Amino acid sequence: MTVPSPGAATDAFTKPLANGHSPLSQRLQIINDEKKFTQELTSQIERWGLRDVGFNYNLVAVFGSQSTGKSTLLNRLFGTTFDVMDETKRQQTTKGIWMCRGNDTNIMVMDVEGTDGRERGEDQDFERKSALFSLASSEVLIINLWEHQVGLYQGANMGLLKTVFEVNLGLFGKKAQDGTSGRTLLLFVIRDHIGTTPLANLQATLTADMHKIWESLSKPAELQDRQLSDYFDLTFTALPHKVLAADQFEKETRNLRERFVDKENPGFVFKPLYHKRIPADGVAFYMENIWEQVQNNKDLDLPTQQELLAQFRCDEISAVALTEFNEQAKPQKRPIEAGKVVEGLGSMMRSWRKTALERYDRDASRYHQGVYKRKRADLIASLDATLSPLFLGQLKNLHKACLGAFKKDILDGLKGEEYNFADVVSKAQGKCESKFTEGAKESVVDDSEEGKAEWNWEEELLLLKEEVRSVADQCRKDETKKMVNAIERNFKKQISEPVELALNKGSPSMWDSILRAFRETLDKAESAYLTKATSFNCTEEENAQSLAVLRRRAWQALRAKIDEQTVDSVFVGRLRTHFEERFRYDEQGVPRVWKPDDDIDGAFKKAKEQTLELIPLYSKIVPVDSSLAYTLPPDAASSSDSGSLTEEPFDFEDSLTVFSETKALDLAAKFRKDADLAYVEAKRSTVSSVAQ
Ligand code: GDP
Ligand code: MG
Repeated sequence: MTVPSPGAATDAFTKPLANGHSPLSQRLQIINDEKKFTQELTSQIERWGLRDVGFNYNLVAVFGSQSTGKSTLLNRLFGTTFDVMDETKRQQTTKGIWMCRGNDTNIMVMDVEGTDGRERGEDQDFERKSALFSLASSEVLIINLWEHQVGLYQGANMGLLKTVFEVNLGLFGKKAQDGTSGRTLLLFVIRDHIGTTPLANLQATLTADMHKIWESLSKPAELQDRQLSDYFDLTFTALPHKVLAADQFEKETRNLRERFVDKENPGFVFKPLYHKRIPADGVAFYMENIWEQVQNNKDLDLPTQQELLAQFRCDEISAVALTEFNEQAKPQKRPIEAGKVVEGLGSMMRSWRKTALERYDRDASRYHQGVYKRKRADLIASLDATLSPLFLGQLKNLHKACLGAFKKDILDGLKGEEYNFADVVSKAQGKCESKFTEGAKESVVDDSEEGKAEWNWEEELLLLKEEVRSVADQCRKDETKKMVNAIERNFKKQISEPVELALNKGSPSMWDSILRAFRETLDKAESAYLTKATSFNCTEEENAQSLAVLRRRAWQALRAKIDEQTVDSVFVGRLRTHFEERFRYDEQGVPRVWKPDDDIDGAFKKAKEQTLELIPLYSKIVPVDSSLAYTLPPDAASSSDSGSLTEEPFDFEDSLTVFSETKALDLAAKFRKDADLAYVEAKRSTVSSVAQ
């Protein structure tokens, strides 16, 4: 028999073996005659169906001199397929350590094949190393010996036991204090028990020998007072001669098997305290490491070995979970980067993360707890490092989408004629914020206390709120401007007629009526503004500003109307009319026909003076009733439409002057020309009437 080639091992997974064994009964040489550890153990454990059983398996190894029927016994007990020496050929079995899965049980059985080195004084090294190796992993060590070897204190077996105890101290010495791990059951199987010496006697002899050996050990100083029983439990059994008492032998081996497979059996050997707590999927790695340490003659520090194993396995398990997780997460990366809001992203992310952690926990939680927890935190960090950009991207996209929807809602809301601006805005605002909050909350992966900082969306909401507010503010400003413009247009329409009427008449109280009309119209405009503005949620300040603008514009509109009504041509025409009404018509409004005796000069002078009096009246806006005088409030004078302060303030005082003095003189001169013409004409008409 040789080590199965990798090809054969793979075939065995699917096909029955050539020798008729199923994969379950396939054996594996885990350490070959060159003391090399196999690379096949993990896959073999998987083929045995034990990979995922966690701690739900047992490990037993055997010790004893060469050709004492060890392999025969194991095959009987566990239905294994270890090589047995062929009686007829007396052929050596293949050296090394072999492993099989027990038939119908989750028991891994190790068989050690050495040479009869002890007798020949060679290869005690392998014996020692396999003892170390077996103790580090087995729960039960079967010590196999012939009845006639019992009591032979100097015999080969005793040397072996001394070795076992010594290495055991090295292995578990420090750890044994808590009594939890490192405890091993030594099951002595006495072969070819004839029966003349009862088992009890043999047991007593062996126990005494054990203690003698224990006493003789060279123990490290700190372990001087340790007892054999601090590390080992001893149990004994005897088997009859396989050939001479074949039936008895079969019966006793069947009974012994029960002690391995039946938990209810009072002699059940696999007590939980013997278990080395290596999860099945880590057994191969662990054993390989132990073997390496043993080979290099290093001190075997089992707790460190367990941590190393845990690190290795937890990393592996974590990597598998992470790979699967990344495959799930990958397709969502692109849409997020492209600015899309991915529907249900949060629940997806939570489920990927949960699956990954469950996967990790299922396999890794059996390993060294400190390592398991540390690696778990690492895994969470890795998972979240992938999820966090998705989360933040989703928030950004959500922000953009909600702001867009908000703007659109406002535009739609302001489309019709009848709308309440404040309602439109606050409705859109509420919708925007709740849509964001809902989406953001959905995207949170971990809302535990620790996760709070990582999955924070409140800040993004604050940013969004700020932007929403500034958009709303801009809209309100635009709306207010629109409204002020409309009110101004309306104002202009209303002020036009009273101004025209009053200026046409040119009565001394014309400014009184103009200012009165102005006041009334402005009051109406102001209250129109205030009525509407309440629905805008404008601030006091904004209202004051709008009113200032409105007042200034109203005044300017009035002034424009006055200017329009007093341009030179119109005004000079008005003076002429005024003059002619007095000069060319009498008091009854009948056109005058000048006669030579008429006092043309007097009439002319009077009419001219009366007309010239109008110029100062029009020159300045001064009411007769001083209580009607209007003063533009200073904030109105300095208000500007653009809100910029660089604009020159409006000079109200200046605007009260309609004509400057020079202008007045100029107008008077123009009028005089017209009047002089009328005078000359009147003179001529008398001359011509005399001439007739
Ligand atoms: P190992 O080297 O300890 O594994 O021993 P093997 O199982 O290969 O057996 C060695 C030889 O001992 C074989 O020829 C077996 O037939 C024989 N043998 C096995 N069991 C017994 C037993 O209980 N009593 C006797 N006398 N011989 C046995
Ligand atoms: Mg053997």
